[in-house]
Amino acid sequence: MTTTTSGTIARQLIGREFSAGSGAVDEVFDPATGEVIATVCHSTAAEVDAAVRAAAGAFPAWADTPVPDRAEYMFRYKTILEAHVEELAALVVQENGKTLAEARGEVRRGIEVVALACGAPTLLLGGAIDQIANGIDEEMVRFPVGVVAGICPFNFPFMVPLWMLPLALVAGNTFVLKPSPRTPLSAVREIELLMQTGLPEGVVNIVHGDREPVEALLTHPLVDAVSFVGSASVARHIYATAASAGKRVQALGGAKNHLIVMEDADLDQTVPAVLGSAFGNAGQRCLAGSVVVAVGAAGDRLVDALGTAAAALRQGPGTDPTCQLGPVIRSARVDELSAAIAEGERAGATLLLDGRERTTPRGYFLGATLFDHVSEDMALWRNELFGPVLSVVRADDLDEALGHLNASRYGNAASIFTRSGGAARTFKRRAEAGMLGVNVGVAAPMSFFPFCGWKESFFGDLHATGADGVRFYTRTKVVTSRWFDAGALDEDAPEGRGH
Ligand code: NAD
Repeated sequence: MTTTTSGTIARQLIGREFSAGSGAVDEVFDPATGEVIATVCHSTAAEVDAAVRAAAGAFPAWADTPVPDRAEYMFRYKTILEAHVEELAALVVQENGKTLAEARGEVRRGIEVVALACGAPTLLLGGAIDQIANGIDEEMVRFPVGVVAGICPFNFPFMVPLWMLPLALVAGNTFVLKPSPRTPLSAVREIELLMQTGLPEGVVNIVHGDREPVEALLTHPLVDAVSFVGSASVARHIYATAASAGKRVQALGGAKNHLIVMEDADLDQTVPAVLGSAFGNAGQRCLAGSVVVAVGAAGDRLVDALGTAAAALRQGPGTDPTCQLGPVIRSARVDELSAAIAEGERAGATLLLDGRERTTPRGYFLGATLFDHVSEDMALWRNELFGPVLSVVRADDLDEALGHLNASRYGNAASIFTRSGGAARTFKRRAEAGMLGVNVGVAAPMSFFPFCGWKESFFGDLHATGADGVRFYTRTKVVTSRWFDAGALDEDAPEGRGH
Protein backbone atom coordinates (compact mmCIF):
# COMPACT_ATOMS: atom_id res chain seq x y z
CA MET A 1 0.00 0.00 0.00
CA THR A 2 1.07 3.59 -0.50
CA THR A 3 -0.18 6.31 1.78
CA THR A 4 -0.07 9.79 0.28
CA THR A 5 -1.66 13.06 1.33
CA SER A 6 -4.74 11.94 -0.59
CA GLY A 7 -4.95 8.66 1.34
CA THR A 8 -4.07 5.00 0.97
CA ILE A 9 -3.76 3.54 -2.51
CA ALA A 10 -3.89 -0.20 -3.11
CA ARG A 11 -1.05 -0.75 -5.55
CA GLN A 12 -0.51 -3.29 -8.28
CA LEU A 13 2.73 -5.28 -8.42
CA ILE A 14 4.32 -5.97 -11.79
CA GLY A 15 7.70 -7.62 -11.62
CA ARG A 16 9.61 -5.76 -8.93
CA GLU A 17 7.53 -2.58 -9.10
CA PHE A 18 4.62 -1.67 -6.84
CA SER A 19 2.72 1.17 -8.52
CA ALA A 20 -0.77 2.65 -8.83
CA GLY A 21 -2.63 1.19 -11.81
CA SER A 22 -3.39 3.63 -14.61
CA GLY A 23 -7.04 2.61 -15.10
CA ALA A 24 -10.32 3.63 -13.41
CA VAL A 25 -10.26 4.49 -9.73
CA ASP A 26 -12.55 2.82 -7.17
CA GLU A 27 -13.09 3.79 -3.57
CA VAL A 28 -12.66 1.21 -0.83
CA PHE A 29 -15.11 1.64 2.04
CA ASP A 30 -15.18 0.63 5.68
CA PRO A 31 -18.54 -1.20 5.70
CA ALA A 32 -19.04 -0.42 9.39
CA THR A 33 -18.93 3.34 8.85
CA GLY A 34 -19.41 3.88 5.13
CA GLU A 35 -16.23 5.99 5.10
CA VAL A 36 -13.72 5.83 2.27
CA ILE A 37 -10.54 4.23 3.60
CA ALA A 38 -8.52 3.88 0.42
CA THR A 39 -8.61 3.97 -3.34
CA VAL A 40 -7.75 1.20 -5.73
CA CYS A 41 -6.55 2.08 -9.22
CA HIS A 42 -7.53 -0.53 -11.80
CA SER A 43 -4.84 -2.07 -13.94
CA THR A 44 -5.17 -1.38 -17.66
CA ALA A 45 -5.06 -4.12 -20.30
CA ALA A 46 -1.41 -3.24 -20.95
CA GLU A 47 -0.62 -3.55 -17.24
CA VAL A 48 -2.35 -6.93 -16.98
CA ASP A 49 -0.33 -8.05 -19.98
CA ALA A 50 2.87 -6.76 -18.35
CA ALA A 51 2.05 -8.65 -15.12
CA VAL A 52 1.49 -11.90 -17.03
CA ARG A 53 4.72 -11.37 -18.97
CA ALA A 54 6.59 -10.71 -15.71
CA ALA A 55 5.24 -14.00 -14.34
CA ALA A 56 6.09 -15.85 -17.55
CA GLY A 57 9.59 -14.36 -17.55
CA ALA A 58 10.20 -15.45 -13.95
CA PHE A 59 8.84 -18.95 -14.54
CA PRO A 60 11.88 -20.84 -15.93
CA ALA A 61 14.24 -19.85 -13.09
CA TRP A 62 11.57 -20.33 -10.42
CA ALA A 63 10.60 -23.74 -11.78
CA ASP A 64 14.31 -24.67 -11.65
CA THR A 65 14.71 -23.53 -8.04
CA PRO A 66 15.18 -26.61 -5.85
CA VAL A 67 11.97 -27.64 -4.12
CA PRO A 68 13.36 -27.33 -0.56
CA ASP A 69 14.49 -23.78 -1.43
CA ARG A 70 11.01 -22.93 -2.64
CA ALA A 71 9.62 -24.34 0.60
CA GLU A 72 12.11 -22.21 2.54
CA TYR A 73 10.31 -19.07 1.31
CA MET A 74 7.14 -20.42 2.93
CA PHE A 75 8.90 -21.04 6.26
CA ARG A 76 10.05 -17.40 6.16
CA TYR A 77 6.61 -16.22 5.07
CA LYS A 78 4.93 -18.04 7.94
CA THR A 79 7.26 -16.38 10.45
CA ILE A 80 6.54 -12.96 8.95
CA LEU A 81 2.77 -13.54 8.90
CA GLU A 82 2.77 -14.73 12.52
CA ALA A 83 4.36 -11.42 13.49
CA HIS A 84 1.62 -9.50 11.66
CA VAL A 85 -1.54 -11.40 12.68
CA GLU A 86 -3.08 -8.49 14.57
CA GLU A 87 -2.27 -5.95 11.86
CA LEU A 88 -3.72 -8.24 9.17
CA ALA A 89 -6.84 -9.01 11.20
CA ALA A 90 -7.42 -5.28 11.77
CA LEU A 91 -7.14 -4.69 8.02
CA VAL A 92 -9.70 -7.43 7.31
CA VAL A 93 -12.08 -5.87 9.87
CA GLN A 94 -11.62 -2.47 8.29
CA GLU A 95 -12.22 -3.33 4.65
CA ASN A 96 -14.54 -6.34 5.01
CA GLY A 97 -16.51 -5.50 8.15
CA LYS A 98 -16.25 -8.84 9.94
CA THR A 99 -15.75 -8.95 13.69
CA LEU A 100 -12.23 -9.02 15.08
CA ALA A 101 -12.63 -12.64 16.23
CA GLU A 102 -13.80 -13.65 12.75
CA ALA A 103 -10.94 -11.73 11.13
CA ARG A 104 -8.39 -13.37 13.39
CA GLY A 105 -9.88 -16.74 12.44
CA GLU A 106 -9.56 -15.86 8.77
CA VAL A 107 -5.89 -14.89 9.15
CA ARG A 108 -5.15 -18.13 11.00
CA ARG A 109 -6.86 -20.23 8.30
CA GLY A 110 -4.73 -18.49 5.67
CA ILE A 111 -1.51 -19.10 7.58
CA GLU A 112 -2.53 -22.75 7.87
CA VAL A 113 -2.14 -23.14 4.09
CA VAL A 114 1.30 -21.53 4.22
CA ALA A 115 2.21 -24.12 6.87
CA LEU A 116 0.94 -26.86 4.57
CA ALA A 117 3.13 -25.56 1.73
CA CYS A 118 6.23 -25.70 3.98
CA GLY A 119 6.01 -29.46 3.45
CA ALA A 120 6.52 -29.08 -0.31
CA PRO A 121 9.20 -31.77 -0.66
CA THR A 122 6.78 -34.32 0.77
CA LEU A 123 3.73 -32.92 -1.03
CA LEU A 124 5.45 -33.01 -4.39
CA LEU A 125 6.82 -36.54 -4.07
CA GLY A 126 6.22 -38.61 -7.13
CA GLY A 127 6.24 -42.40 -7.31
CA ALA A 128 8.27 -45.14 -8.92
CA ILE A 129 8.07 -48.86 -9.60
CA ASP A 130 11.18 -50.90 -10.15
CA GLN A 131 10.94 -53.68 -12.77
CA ILE A 132 7.42 -52.91 -14.02
CA ALA A 133 8.35 -55.14 -16.96
CA ASN A 134 11.52 -57.06 -17.69
CA GLY A 135 14.39 -54.58 -17.47
CA ILE A 136 11.99 -51.64 -17.33
CA ASP A 137 11.34 -49.12 -14.53
CA GLU A 138 8.64 -46.48 -14.35
CA GLU A 139 8.45 -43.24 -12.38
CA MET A 140 5.93 -40.44 -11.99
CA VAL A 141 7.34 -36.93 -11.49
CA ARG A 142 5.47 -33.65 -10.81
CA PHE A 143 6.27 -30.45 -12.72
CA PRO A 144 4.71 -26.99 -12.42
CA VAL A 145 1.94 -25.90 -14.76
CA GLY A 146 3.28 -22.40 -15.58
CA VAL A 147 1.63 -19.04 -14.97
CA VAL A 148 -1.42 -19.19 -12.68
CA ALA A 149 -4.03 -16.43 -12.44
CA GLY A 150 -5.88 -16.24 -9.11
CA ILE A 151 -9.19 -14.33 -8.96
CA CYS A 152 -10.66 -13.73 -5.51
CA PRO A 153 -13.93 -12.66 -3.81
CA PHE A 154 -14.46 -9.99 -1.16
CA ASN A 155 -15.60 -12.17 1.69
CA PHE A 156 -12.26 -13.71 2.74
CA PRO A 157 -9.88 -11.12 1.32
CA PHE A 158 -6.83 -12.43 3.17
CA MET A 159 -7.50 -16.18 3.27
CA VAL A 160 -8.69 -16.98 -0.25
CA PRO A 161 -5.50 -15.75 -1.99
CA LEU A 162 -3.67 -18.09 0.38
CA TRP A 163 -5.82 -21.04 -0.73
CA MET A 164 -3.95 -20.53 -4.00
CA LEU A 165 -0.56 -18.86 -3.66
CA PRO A 166 1.43 -21.07 -1.27
CA LEU A 167 0.77 -24.36 -3.07
CA ALA A 168 1.07 -22.81 -6.52
CA LEU A 169 4.42 -21.26 -5.66
CA VAL A 170 6.06 -24.22 -3.96
CA ALA A 171 5.00 -26.36 -6.90
CA GLY A 172 7.12 -24.05 -9.09
CA ASN A 173 4.44 -21.89 -10.73
CA THR A 174 4.45 -18.12 -10.97
CA PHE A 175 1.36 -16.10 -10.17
CA VAL A 176 -0.85 -13.13 -11.05
CA LEU A 177 -3.35 -12.30 -8.31
CA LYS A 178 -6.54 -10.30 -8.91
CA PRO A 179 -8.25 -9.46 -5.59
CA SER A 180 -11.79 -8.15 -5.24
CA PRO A 181 -11.93 -4.41 -5.96
CA ARG A 182 -14.12 -4.12 -2.86
CA THR A 183 -11.40 -5.52 -0.56
CA PRO A 184 -7.97 -5.13 -2.15
CA LEU A 185 -6.04 -3.98 0.93
CA SER A 186 -5.54 -7.31 2.73
CA ALA A 187 -4.30 -8.94 -0.47
CA VAL A 188 -1.84 -6.15 -1.21
CA ARG A 189 -0.52 -6.29 2.35
CA GLU A 190 -0.11 -10.06 2.26
CA ILE A 191 1.86 -9.76 -0.98
CA GLU A 192 4.02 -6.99 0.48
CA LEU A 193 4.83 -9.35 3.33
CA LEU A 194 5.44 -12.21 0.90
CA MET A 195 7.98 -10.07 -0.95
CA GLN A 196 9.83 -9.58 2.35
CA THR A 197 10.86 -13.24 2.08
CA GLY A 198 13.14 -12.23 -0.81
CA LEU A 199 11.00 -13.92 -3.45
CA PRO A 200 12.52 -13.28 -6.91
CA GLU A 201 10.84 -10.55 -8.94
CA GLY A 202 8.01 -11.61 -11.21
CA VAL A 203 7.18 -14.78 -9.25
CA VAL A 204 4.13 -13.00 -7.80
CA ASN A 205 2.27 -10.07 -9.34
CA ILE A 206 -0.98 -8.29 -8.50
CA VAL A 207 -3.41 -6.53 -10.78
CA HIS A 208 -6.56 -4.69 -9.76
CA GLY A 209 -10.01 -4.10 -11.17
CA ASP A 210 -13.20 -6.01 -11.77
CA ARG A 211 -14.27 -7.75 -15.00
CA GLU A 212 -11.75 -6.28 -17.45
CA PRO A 213 -8.55 -7.66 -15.91
CA VAL A 214 -10.28 -11.00 -15.38
CA GLU A 215 -11.31 -11.26 -19.03
CA ALA A 216 -7.76 -10.37 -20.06
CA LEU A 217 -6.31 -13.06 -17.79
CA LEU A 218 -8.78 -15.76 -18.90
CA THR A 219 -7.72 -15.60 -22.52
CA HIS A 220 -4.09 -14.48 -22.21
CA PRO A 221 -1.92 -16.93 -24.16
CA LEU A 222 0.74 -16.98 -21.43
CA VAL A 223 -1.69 -17.89 -18.61
CA ASP A 224 -1.72 -21.67 -18.08
CA ALA A 225 -4.13 -22.13 -15.17
CA VAL A 226 -6.91 -20.18 -13.46
CA SER A 227 -8.00 -20.47 -9.84
CA PHE A 228 -11.26 -18.64 -9.17
CA VAL A 229 -13.39 -18.18 -6.07
CA GLY A 230 -16.63 -16.18 -6.23
CA SER A 231 -20.30 -16.40 -7.10
CA ALA A 232 -21.72 -19.31 -9.10
CA SER A 233 -22.69 -17.39 -12.22
CA VAL A 234 -19.22 -15.86 -12.53
CA ALA A 235 -17.59 -19.21 -11.68
CA ARG A 236 -19.50 -20.86 -14.52
CA HIS A 237 -18.39 -18.11 -16.92
CA ILE A 238 -14.76 -18.32 -15.76
CA TYR A 239 -14.75 -22.10 -16.18
CA ALA A 240 -16.27 -22.01 -19.67
CA THR A 241 -14.12 -19.14 -20.94
CA ALA A 242 -10.78 -20.25 -19.54
CA ALA A 243 -11.30 -23.93 -20.35
CA SER A 244 -12.21 -23.12 -23.93
CA ALA A 245 -9.00 -21.07 -24.12
CA GLY A 246 -7.15 -24.25 -23.17
CA LYS A 247 -6.41 -23.42 -19.55
CA ARG A 248 -6.62 -25.65 -16.51
CA VAL A 249 -9.42 -24.23 -14.30
CA GLN A 250 -10.80 -24.62 -10.80
CA ALA A 251 -13.77 -22.30 -10.19
CA LEU A 252 -15.39 -22.30 -6.76
CA GLY A 253 -18.91 -20.87 -6.75
CA GLY A 254 -21.72 -19.88 -4.42
CA ALA A 255 -23.81 -21.91 -2.01
CA LYS A 256 -27.12 -22.49 -0.28
CA ASN A 257 -26.10 -24.66 2.65
CA HIS A 258 -28.73 -26.70 4.49
CA LEU A 259 -28.50 -27.56 8.18
CA ILE A 260 -30.73 -30.49 9.13
CA VAL A 261 -31.82 -30.47 12.77
CA MET A 262 -33.25 -33.81 13.86
CA GLU A 263 -35.81 -34.21 16.64
CA ASP A 264 -33.19 -35.75 18.93
CA ALA A 265 -30.62 -32.95 18.49
CA ASP A 266 -29.17 -31.36 21.62
CA LEU A 267 -30.77 -27.92 21.24
CA ASP A 268 -28.48 -26.21 23.75
CA GLN A 269 -25.52 -27.08 21.52
CA THR A 270 -27.34 -26.84 18.21
CA VAL A 271 -28.80 -23.34 18.51
CA PRO A 272 -25.44 -21.53 18.99
CA ALA A 273 -23.90 -23.64 16.20
CA VAL A 274 -26.72 -22.76 13.78
CA LEU A 275 -26.58 -19.12 14.83
CA GLY A 276 -22.81 -18.94 14.22
CA SER A 277 -23.23 -20.62 10.86
CA ALA A 278 -26.07 -18.38 9.65
CA PHE A 279 -25.02 -15.01 11.05
CA GLY A 280 -21.22 -15.29 11.42
CA ASN A 281 -19.46 -12.96 8.96
CA ALA A 282 -22.96 -11.43 8.56
CA GLY A 283 -23.93 -14.50 6.54
CA GLN A 284 -21.26 -13.70 3.95
CA ARG A 285 -19.56 -17.09 4.02
CA CYS A 286 -19.74 -19.68 1.29
CA LEU A 287 -20.16 -22.18 4.14
CA ALA A 288 -22.90 -20.17 5.86
CA GLY A 289 -25.97 -22.19 6.85
CA SER A 290 -28.81 -20.40 5.11
CA VAL A 291 -31.56 -23.02 5.36
CA VAL A 292 -32.41 -24.92 8.52
CA VAL A 293 -34.44 -28.04 7.89
CA ALA A 294 -36.29 -28.64 11.16
CA VAL A 295 -37.34 -32.27 11.38
CA GLY A 296 -40.47 -33.36 13.22
CA ALA A 297 -41.75 -32.11 16.55
CA ALA A 298 -38.53 -30.28 17.45
CA GLY A 299 -39.35 -27.60 14.89
CA ASP A 300 -41.34 -25.21 17.09
CA ARG A 301 -38.88 -25.34 19.99
CA LEU A 302 -35.97 -24.85 17.61
CA VAL A 303 -37.55 -21.90 15.83
CA ASP A 304 -38.41 -20.22 19.17
CA ALA A 305 -34.88 -20.67 20.46
CA LEU A 306 -33.34 -19.45 17.19
CA GLY A 307 -35.58 -16.37 17.11
CA THR A 308 -34.70 -15.42 20.70
CA ALA A 309 -30.97 -15.96 20.22
CA ALA A 310 -30.85 -14.17 16.84
CA ALA A 311 -32.71 -11.14 18.23
CA ALA A 312 -30.13 -10.90 21.03
CA LEU A 313 -27.10 -10.80 18.69
CA ARG A 314 -25.15 -7.63 19.32
CA GLN A 315 -24.80 -5.77 16.06
CA GLY A 316 -21.97 -3.30 15.50
CA PRO A 317 -18.53 -2.62 14.08
CA GLY A 318 -15.90 -5.34 14.18
CA THR A 319 -13.60 -3.03 16.10
CA ASP A 320 -15.91 -3.43 19.12
CA PRO A 321 -14.93 -6.82 20.59
CA THR A 322 -18.39 -7.33 22.10
CA CYS A 323 -20.10 -7.21 18.69
CA GLN A 324 -21.34 -10.46 17.14
CA LEU A 325 -22.95 -9.26 13.91
CA GLY A 326 -21.05 -6.96 11.57
CA PRO A 327 -22.21 -5.10 8.45
CA VAL A 328 -22.57 -6.45 4.93
CA ILE A 329 -20.09 -5.31 2.33
CA ARG A 330 -21.92 -2.44 0.59
CA SER A 331 -25.12 -0.40 0.96
CA ALA A 332 -26.43 -1.90 -2.31
CA ARG A 333 -26.35 -5.30 -0.57
CA VAL A 334 -28.55 -3.94 2.26
CA ASP A 335 -31.05 -2.88 -0.42
CA GLU A 336 -30.88 -6.23 -2.25
CA LEU A 337 -31.27 -8.22 0.96
CA SER A 338 -34.17 -5.98 2.08
CA ALA A 339 -35.85 -6.63 -1.27
CA ALA A 340 -35.32 -10.39 -0.81
CA ILE A 341 -36.95 -10.18 2.63
CA ALA A 342 -39.94 -8.30 1.18
CA GLU A 343 -40.20 -10.92 -1.57
CA GLY A 344 -40.08 -13.71 1.04
CA GLU A 345 -43.04 -12.14 2.86
CA ARG A 346 -44.97 -11.76 -0.39
CA ALA A 347 -44.30 -15.42 -1.20
CA GLY A 348 -45.97 -16.44 2.07
CA ALA A 349 -43.04 -17.31 4.36
CA THR A 350 -43.51 -16.35 8.03
CA LEU A 351 -41.18 -13.47 8.95
CA LEU A 352 -40.27 -13.97 12.61
CA LEU A 353 -37.40 -11.52 12.87
CA ASP A 354 -37.03 -8.62 10.44
CA GLY A 355 -33.47 -7.34 9.99
CA ARG A 356 -34.75 -4.33 8.04
CA GLU A 357 -35.76 -2.85 11.41
CA ARG A 358 -32.10 -2.78 12.40
CA THR A 359 -30.53 -0.95 9.49
CA THR A 360 -28.51 2.06 10.61
CA PRO A 361 -27.86 5.53 9.18
CA ARG A 362 -24.12 4.87 9.37
CA GLY A 363 -22.55 1.75 7.88
CA TYR A 364 -24.12 -1.09 5.91
CA PHE A 365 -25.94 -2.94 8.67
CA LEU A 366 -28.90 -5.27 8.38
CA GLY A 367 -30.16 -7.12 11.43
CA ALA A 368 -30.44 -10.88 11.73
CA THR A 369 -33.53 -12.07 9.85
CA LEU A 370 -35.45 -15.30 10.42
CA PHE A 371 -38.15 -16.83 8.25
CA ASP A 372 -40.20 -19.91 9.10
CA HIS A 373 -42.28 -22.15 6.80
CA VAL A 374 -40.12 -21.49 3.76
CA SER A 375 -40.73 -23.85 0.84
CA GLU A 376 -38.88 -24.94 -2.27
CA ASP A 377 -40.97 -22.76 -4.57
CA MET A 378 -39.69 -19.59 -2.89
CA ALA A 379 -36.71 -17.50 -4.01
CA LEU A 380 -35.70 -17.42 -0.33
CA TRP A 381 -34.97 -21.15 -0.52
CA ARG A 382 -33.62 -21.18 -4.07
CA ASN A 383 -31.13 -18.31 -4.23
CA GLU A 384 -27.91 -17.63 -2.42
CA LEU A 385 -28.66 -14.45 -0.46
CA PHE A 386 -25.21 -13.97 1.11
CA GLY A 387 -26.39 -11.97 4.10
CA PRO A 388 -27.81 -12.48 7.62
CA VAL A 389 -31.07 -14.10 6.48
CA LEU A 390 -31.96 -17.58 7.71
CA SER A 391 -34.86 -19.64 6.36
CA VAL A 392 -36.48 -22.54 8.20
CA VAL A 393 -38.04 -25.34 6.17
CA ARG A 394 -40.12 -27.96 7.99
CA ALA A 395 -39.77 -31.69 7.26
CA ASP A 396 -41.45 -34.79 8.73
CA ASP A 397 -38.40 -37.04 8.62
CA LEU A 398 -34.78 -37.35 7.49
CA ASP A 399 -35.80 -38.64 4.10
CA GLU A 400 -37.82 -35.50 3.40
CA ALA A 401 -35.07 -33.29 4.85
CA LEU A 402 -32.49 -34.87 2.53
CA GLY A 403 -34.91 -34.34 -0.34
CA HIS A 404 -34.86 -30.56 0.31
CA LEU A 405 -31.08 -30.50 0.66
CA ASN A 406 -30.51 -32.47 -2.50
CA ALA A 407 -32.99 -30.43 -4.53
CA SER A 408 -30.74 -27.37 -4.23
CA ARG A 409 -28.71 -26.52 -7.30
CA TYR A 410 -25.79 -25.85 -4.98
CA GLY A 411 -23.77 -28.46 -3.10
CA ASN A 412 -21.10 -26.72 -1.07
CA ALA A 413 -21.72 -27.70 2.56
CA ALA A 414 -24.43 -29.34 4.67
CA SER A 415 -24.75 -30.34 8.31
CA ILE A 416 -26.85 -32.58 10.48
CA PHE A 417 -27.51 -32.11 14.16
CA THR A 418 -28.50 -35.34 15.88
CA ARG A 419 -27.67 -37.79 18.64
CA SER A 420 -28.21 -40.72 16.29
CA GLY A 421 -25.25 -42.41 14.64
CA GLY A 422 -27.62 -44.04 12.19
CA ALA A 423 -29.12 -40.71 11.07
CA ALA A 424 -25.63 -39.20 10.78
CA ARG A 425 -24.44 -42.11 8.66
CA THR A 426 -27.44 -41.91 6.34
CA PHE A 427 -26.82 -38.17 6.00
CA LYS A 428 -23.11 -38.70 5.23
CA ARG A 429 -23.94 -41.17 2.51
CA ARG A 430 -26.90 -39.42 0.89
CA ALA A 431 -26.25 -35.67 1.21
CA GLU A 432 -25.27 -34.20 -2.16
CA ALA A 433 -22.71 -31.69 -0.95
CA GLY A 434 -18.96 -31.88 -0.69
CA MET A 435 -18.34 -30.57 2.83
CA LEU A 436 -20.44 -32.18 5.54
CA GLY A 437 -20.76 -31.43 9.22
CA VAL A 438 -22.06 -33.73 11.95
CA ASN A 439 -23.07 -31.52 14.88
CA VAL A 440 -20.82 -28.86 13.32
CA GLY A 441 -22.33 -25.67 11.89
CA VAL A 442 -19.50 -24.57 9.58
CA ALA A 443 -17.95 -27.66 8.04
CA ALA A 444 -14.77 -25.95 6.82
CA PRO A 445 -12.11 -28.49 5.90
CA MET A 446 -8.63 -27.73 7.19
CA SER A 447 -6.04 -27.01 4.51
CA PHE A 448 -4.80 -30.61 4.49
CA PHE A 449 -8.11 -31.57 2.87
CA PRO A 450 -9.68 -30.21 -0.32
CA PHE A 451 -12.35 -27.52 -0.22
CA CYS A 452 -14.69 -29.62 -2.24
CA GLY A 453 -18.01 -28.12 -3.28
CA TRP A 454 -20.33 -30.02 -5.61
CA LYS A 455 -22.88 -29.04 -8.25
CA GLU A 456 -22.98 -25.27 -8.97
CA SER A 457 -20.70 -24.64 -6.02
CA PHE A 458 -17.75 -25.85 -8.07
CA PHE A 459 -16.77 -26.00 -11.72
CA GLY A 460 -13.70 -28.07 -12.53
CA ASP A 461 -12.09 -31.31 -11.40
CA LEU A 462 -9.46 -30.55 -8.78
CA HIS A 463 -10.50 -28.48 -5.78
CA ALA A 464 -8.52 -25.94 -3.75
CA THR A 465 -6.03 -27.00 -1.01
CA GLY A 466 -5.05 -30.47 0.19
CA ALA A 467 -3.93 -33.12 -2.25
CA ASP A 468 -6.26 -31.68 -4.90
CA GLY A 469 -4.44 -28.34 -4.66
CA VAL A 470 -1.09 -30.04 -5.22
CA ARG A 471 -2.47 -31.91 -8.22
CA PHE A 472 -4.08 -28.78 -9.67
CA TYR A 473 -0.81 -26.86 -9.59
CA THR A 474 1.32 -29.67 -11.04
CA ARG A 475 1.53 -31.61 -14.27
CA THR A 476 2.77 -35.15 -14.09
CA LYS A 477 5.16 -37.00 -16.32
CA VAL A 478 5.46 -40.75 -16.27
CA VAL A 479 8.90 -41.86 -17.38
CA THR A 480 9.39 -45.43 -18.58
CA SER A 481 13.12 -46.39 -18.66
CA ARG A 482 15.06 -49.28 -20.12
CA TRP A 483 18.88 -49.47 -20.01
CA PHE A 484 20.39 -51.91 -22.44
CA ASP A 485 23.48 -52.43 -20.29
CA ALA A 486 21.55 -52.96 -17.02
CA GLY A 487 20.97 -56.68 -17.44
CA ALA A 488 24.70 -57.29 -18.06
CA LEU A 489 25.65 -55.38 -14.89
CA ASP A 490 23.06 -57.34 -12.85
CA GLU A 491 24.56 -60.59 -14.12
CA ASP A 492 28.08 -59.43 -13.14
CA ALA A 493 27.22 -58.43 -9.59
CA PRO A 494 27.35 -61.53 -7.33
CA GLU A 495 25.15 -59.82 -4.72
CA GLY A 496 22.69 -58.98 -7.50
CA ARG A 497 21.83 -62.65 -8.01
CA GLY A 498 18.85 -64.26 -6.43
CA HIS A 499 16.77 -61.05 -6.04
P1 NAD B 1 -18.08 -12.22 -7.38
O1 NAD B 1 -18.38 -13.40 -8.21
O2 NAD B 1 -18.92 -11.00 -7.57
O3 NAD B 1 -16.57 -11.73 -7.63
C1 NAD B 1 -15.48 -12.61 -7.52
C2 NAD B 1 -14.33 -12.09 -8.40
O4 NAD B 1 -14.71 -12.10 -9.76
C3 NAD B 1 -13.92 -10.66 -8.07
O5 NAD B 1 -12.52 -10.58 -8.15
C4 NAD B 1 -14.60 -9.84 -9.16
O6 NAD B 1 -13.86 -8.67 -9.45
C5 NAD B 1 -14.63 -10.80 -10.32
N1 NAD B 1 -15.82 -10.65 -11.17
C6 NAD B 1 -17.06 -10.27 -10.79
N2 NAD B 1 -17.91 -10.31 -11.82
C7 NAD B 1 -17.20 -10.73 -12.88
C8 NAD B 1 -17.53 -10.99 -14.25
N3 NAD B 1 -18.77 -10.82 -14.71
N4 NAD B 1 -16.55 -11.44 -15.06
C9 NAD B 1 -15.30 -11.62 -14.61
N5 NAD B 1 -14.94 -11.40 -13.32
C10 NAD B 1 -15.88 -10.95 -12.48
O7 NAD B 1 -18.10 -12.70 -5.86
P2 NAD B 1 -18.04 -11.82 -4.55
O8 NAD B 1 -19.32 -11.08 -4.39
O9 NAD B 1 -16.77 -11.05 -4.48
O10 NAD B 1 -17.93 -12.97 -3.44
C11 NAD B 1 -19.04 -13.63 -2.90
C12 NAD B 1 -19.34 -14.92 -3.62
O11 NAD B 1 -18.21 -15.79 -3.57
C13 NAD B 1 -20.48 -15.70 -2.98
O12 NAD B 1 -21.29 -16.22 -3.99
C14 NAD B 1 -19.78 -16.80 -2.21
O13 NAD B 1 -20.55 -17.96 -1.98
C15 NAD B 1 -18.63 -17.08 -3.13
N6 NAD B 1 -17.54 -17.75 -2.43
C16 NAD B 1 -17.38 -19.08 -2.67
C17 NAD B 1 -16.39 -19.78 -1.98
C18 NAD B 1 -16.22 -21.25 -2.20
O14 NAD B 1 -15.28 -21.80 -1.66
N7 NAD B 1 -17.06 -21.91 -2.96
C19 NAD B 1 -15.56 -19.10 -1.07
C20 NAD B 1 -15.75 -17.74 -0.88
C21 NAD B 1 -16.76 -17.06 -1.57
